Amino acid sequence: MVLVRYSKLLNKGQKEIISHSVFNIPLCKYCHKRNLGNNKTTLRKYSTRVAIRSDLTNNCFICQNFFVETLPSIISQIREHLSDFKEQVPTIDIGTILPFQFYENEDYLRSMFQIRGNMNIKNQINSQIREKIRNTTSCRINHSNPEIRFDITIQNDRTFSIIPRREFYLLGRYRKLKRGISQKNRTKGNHLHLDLYNPKFQVDERSIESFVNKIINQNYKPNSFKISWTGGEDKNSLVMGRGRPFIVKASGCTTLIREKRVFIDDGMEIEFETIDSNDIENIHRYRQLVKVFVLLKGNQDNEQELNQRVKSLVGMVRFGTKKKTVTRNIYESRIIDKRGENMELLFNMDNGIPIKQFIGGNDPIEPALSEVLRLKCECINFDIIECMYSR
Ligand SMILES: [Zn+2]
Repeated sequence: MVLVRYSKLLNKGQKEIISHSVFNIPLCKYCHKRNLGNNKTTLRKYSTRVAIRSDLTNNCFICQNFFVETLPSIISQIREHLSDFKEQVPTIDIGTILPFQFYENEDYLRSMFQIRGNMNIKNQINSQIREKIRNTTSCRINHSNPEIRFDITIQNDRTFSIIPRREFYLLGRYRKLKRGISQKNRTKGNHLHLDLYNPKFQVDERSIESFVNKIINQNYKPNSFKISWTGGEDKNSLVMGRGRPFIVKASGCTTLIREKRVFIDDGMEIEFETIDSNDIENIHRYRQLVKVFVLLKGNQDNEQELNQRVKSLVGMVRFGTKKKTVTRNIYESRIIDKRGENMELLFNMDNGIPIKQFIGGNDPIEPALSEVLRLKCECINFDIIECMYSR
């Protein structure tokens, strides 16, 4: 409203302006310094002398005294929020949404005094909040990956709201103790659209993904989250031991649950703990102990020969993905049982080797069990006995 008043004054034509021969624009010291520095603070517009006044008997033309009267309350609210963190001080960033009027009034003043290239009001507010927080708390500012981001919205009447949004990472580990549980939901993309019209599509499918969704929504309550798997197994595979790790990246305004929690539901066990973003990188790198049930088709060599050949699989495995050729290692390979055409093998191998392909050798993979045994082999099933984490 202030802007309208001043612009009317200056645009109504010379006649009216003459009657206001001195036109004072009050600015607070912050807006003054940001815009004018040590430069001249008066000019002549038509026959009116326009003068910038730094005294603050009136509200600042640009910020409405935001810097003096509102900013300290914002700082103290953010500090209050941060005081909940006694043990581990989070990294933070802040973002602000200012009333349109702040920009408009600043633009108006700048065009009148032909001011170019100075810092704008938003940058000054942001940097001032950051600086005050940095000086009065032990928080570090992290623009790209903050643990908490404060979204500050300032209204025209200088009332404000602060919403702390937290980006956090959960390390999950799931165990499948019954067969027939998929890792991911089958319905994706377009099928979702179909679901709305056909209740038959809404099969209550038991999957790790649905269970994870339920746990996260009920317990961690983020605004949004995304699951990143570290490889997968068959629907009929068991996953035992410590379970297969995966990452949930979430963002929201909830208080963080730091302790480890375990959730159990009919054959599924999922454990969650919060982790630091720096720990994510190495999580997909682990070894697994895999038990593979193989069907042998064709004439078999004698048992000793078979044993030797299976053991010779220890070493490097090469296979192609969509983008590139990948190499992984096998650390142990042995027969644990053999009855007629059925054979059980145990592998200690890097995560990520496509097991069915490695047994059958139908797609390019080097070596493959079928090749090494010179005998057609088929993977009937495989179970993950343990995921071994070197962390
Ligand atoms: Zn101001």
